[in-house]
Amino acid sequence: MSAASYPGEKKPVFPTAGGTYCLILQLDKDLSLEIGRIGRHEFHAGIYIYLGSARGPGGLRARLNRHIRGDGKTHWHIDHLRKITRLLGVFWTLDPKIHECDWRVDVNELPGASIPVPGFGASDCSAGCPAHLVRFPVRENQSQWRDEFKLSLSGKTGGKLYIMG
Ligand SMILES: [Zn+2]
Repeated sequence: MSAASYPGEKKPVFPTAGGTYCLILQLDKDLSLEIGRIGRHEFHAGIYIYLGSARGPGGLRARLNRHIRGDGKTHWHIDHLRKITRLLGVFWTLDPKIHECDWRVDVNELPGASIPVPGFGASDCSAGCPAHLVRFPVRENQSQWRDEFKLSLSGKTGGKLYIMG
């Protein structure tokens, strides 16, 4: 197991290298939301896991800080969802292989997983993912679920988890 962060720790200095990341988001109530070209969708309250990769300038640091701030233009599908959700945590790896699609498969195997919006975040996907967004019901024991989530990803690729304080 690699190092992990837990609530109360200060925000890490994310690496400027590229890599793969997950956002753990919580939506507190059902909402209808317009998502660019894929149109209007109903989002039910729950935990949403978004799988992405950062390969451009600034790498993971630029991308994760942008998602943490939650501001800026709505460029990607996730930017729309980010504006109506709370970001609970981020998970990332510097592994040179991009893992957004294999992580999506792993996350999809956790109990309660569903694909809320076909095509979400998967415009560039060549692996056949139905979406790069997976939804879970809110858990009574959130920390237990978080550990299951972390285990399902970090066992294969290393990676670090930062939970918002
Ligand atoms: Zn994919």
